[in-house]
Amino acid sequence: MSNKGGDTTAKVESLFKTFMKEERLRCTRERLSVLREIYRSNTHLDADELFVRLREKGVAISRATVYHTLDLLFRYNLVTKIDLGHKHTHYEKSWGVANHLHIICLKCGKVSEATSSELGGMMEKLCREHGYSLGSFSLQLFGECIDKEACARQVKEKCKENA
Ligand SMILES: [Zn+2]
Ligand SMILES: [Zn+2]
Repeated sequence: MSNKGGDTTAKVESLFKTFMKEERLRCTRERLSVLREIYRSNTHLDADELFVRLREKGVAISRATVYHTLDLLFRYNLVTKIDLGHKHTHYEKSWGVANHLHIICLKCGKVSEATSSELGGMMEKLCREHGYSLGSFSLQLFGECIDKEACARQVKEKCKENA
């Protein structure tokens, strides 16, 4: 899901800095670089992909710091965690991004995003009924492409990529 670039990044950075201050954590350049990379990206990234991207850009960051920072960002509601049916968690920006659900093909791994204001309202109601206020949500639906041919092509492409 896209959002309005520059303004958003500045806003989330200042939010992050405030949270870090409250928790007496040092707001290092490395931690900020994780936040920026996520907000610059429009896809779902896992911790390793983030680590590789940052290293490629010359950021001296460790895997452990990437993981730790992602946990912090999740706690502050600045990223959501999503399970795309792989063994590892994917992350995506959440501030200023509409809550949405992911529909994932179990065969070819295609991911589509969908929003529904009805669904948002329902989630809020469910949270309230259980004594919570809703922060963010991420929902995954697993299925199979109805277009079998396109799905098969996708699978073939993937095999080539991994070869
Ligand atoms: Zn998403
Ligand atoms: Zn498919």
